[in-house]
Amino acid sequence: MDSSRGPGSIPQQPETRLVTSGRDTKAQRGFVNPPVVHGSTVLYPTAEDLHAHRGEFQYGRHGSPTTKALQEMLMALEGPECAGVGIAPSGLAAITTALLSVLKAGDHLLVCDNVYRPSRNFCNGLLARYGVETTFFDPLIGAGIERMFKPNTRAVLVEAPGSQSFEMTDIPAIAAVAHARGALVIDDNTWATPLYHRSLEQGVDISLQAATKYIGGHSDIMFGTISANAKAWPSVLETIRLLGVCAGPDDVFLALRGMRTLAVRLAQHYRSGLEMARWLEHRPEVARVLHPALESDPGHAIWRRDFTGASGLFSIVLKPAPQKAVDALLDSVELFGMGFSWGGFESLVIPFDCSNYRTATKWVPGGPTLRLHIGLEHVDDLKADLERGFAAFNAVLAG
Ligand SMILES: *Cc1c(COP(=O)(O)O)cnc(C)c1O
Repeated sequence: MDSSRGPGSIPQQPETRLVTSGRDTKAQRGFVNPPVVHGSTVLYPTAEDLHAHRGEFQYGRHGSPTTKALQEMLMALEGPECAGVGIAPSGLAAITTALLSVLKAGDHLLVCDNVYRPSRNFCNGLLARYGVETTFFDPLIGAGIERMFKPNTRAVLVEAPGSQSFEMTDIPAIAAVAHARGALVIDDNTWATPLYHRSLEQGVDISLQAATKYIGGHSDIMFGTISANAKAWPSVLETIRLLGVCAGPDDVFLALRGMRTLAVRLAQHYRSGLEMARWLEHRPEVARVLHPALESDPGHAIWRRDFTGASGLFSIVLKPAPQKAVDALLDSVELFGMGFSWGGFESLVIPFDCSNYRTATKWVPGGPTLRLHIGLEHVDDLKADLERGFAAFNAVLAG
């Protein structure tokens, strides 16, 4: 089926596909949403069907009407390059499953230095133990990645922008080199989602979502998805089956429900995030705002070319200040909660420091760094909250 088309034959925009795909009201006996199917055993009507493993569903781990609905939605959103969608119990499980699907002992892997830290830990830990060598590269390397290739380089893992430091990587340039060398490209596309970055159309072979974030959108599930093109899908599916990777039906349903409102939520995160970023650029306490949709950002040209929007996650570098001042800021804000993860309806702030684990690049921001997630609260309230934080910050500086 042409996935740019809905159930009828009229071509649909992504916003419309999020509403129309993954449900069949007739089969659902008139109900708008697909059912949440809890199940392990699937009964076969005849011995012949059993011997032939015939039937739409065979066993709970391999899929259900609920997982099928979610997969159809994501395929419709990813576009015609998408040959299949795998479901994982967390974003990290999606990443590790994707890596295991393309690598074997003796292979070499290239990984962007700004990648999600647990992805790095998996490469340096389990992949190293199983005989895969990883080399980290500068996120700004572009076509220069050519010189990092070895005869046994099988895959490149990218993440744009990096979810702490927000450098933009030139994914099409890297994909061109990788494909010429017979390697596959895996993209952690959690920040932009397929709505704002069509990675599979830009040369990526496997596009990942920590669906815990914007797909779920309500900070109430752990979930991951693996979207693959025709070249990568058979081995992704095989690896999912070999590992026994699957997710519970309630979480699948919550991810599916989250996707129905993804377009409106993201549009608001984009608008509010950019407004907060511009406001922060003018605060005297802030040295730099790391947000690729800002014209002042070094990654802006790539973002403009390859992305159609931005989410609500970005970082700021504060003017040099003691930890005590930063802690006073963190302790005095009320709307910005302190906690890991992001992509939910609520605003978050978290201090971070990439300097102690990067290997291919040096991270010298020149001041304390904070990552902000701009939620769905009114921006005036968020500004007032941060003003309270800056007042506490300045009070400590003034001694
Ligand atoms: C959160 C996150 C993940 C991991 O997702 P989990 O669902 O927490 O396992 C992977 N990549 C990025 C960029 C993330 O922010």
